[in-house]
Amino acid sequence: MGCELCTVAGEVLVQSPEWRVVLVREAHYPGFCRVIWNAHVQEMTDLSEPQRNSLMSAVWQVEAAVREVMQPHKINLASLGNVVPHLHWHIIPRYTDDMHFPNPIWGQVERSVNAALHDRLGLLDQLSTTIKQKLNRHWMEANDTVGN
Ligand SMILES: [Zn+2]
Repeated sequence: MGCELCTVAGEVLVQSPEWRVVLVREAHYPGFCRVIWNAHVQEMTDLSEPQRNSLMSAVWQVEAAVREVMQPHKINLASLGNVVPHLHWHIIPRYTDDMHFPNPIWGQVERSVNAALHDRLGLLDQLSTTIKQKLNRHWMEANDTVGN
């Protein structure tokens, strides 16, 4: 039973006990990230409320970082997982000149690669740093509230 989410396809940026953030290597979609729940769980409602909040706050931090650094026209958030029962969220920066816009990136191709792709590829180091900073800051604030 090979699970393609467990065999890391990309760079793990942040690893928590519950979930991990992966920068996906997708040639035409630089900045594409996944937040993957570590355990094999199928649906959001299989998680407890605190677990759901933990997962989604990671998704919001990644979305904020992708918006800030990649400056997309739109963010696509998707949780599909029809093939493997392993809960994860896709955070995908979209541009009006990307290959599939306005279709989903798994949909029909609308145009060939745009020159701006190279500029966007150049932002990935900054994106990686920003995601790590945001999630670390978020954890520190969460721990302060608890009173540690
Ligand atoms: Zn898996």
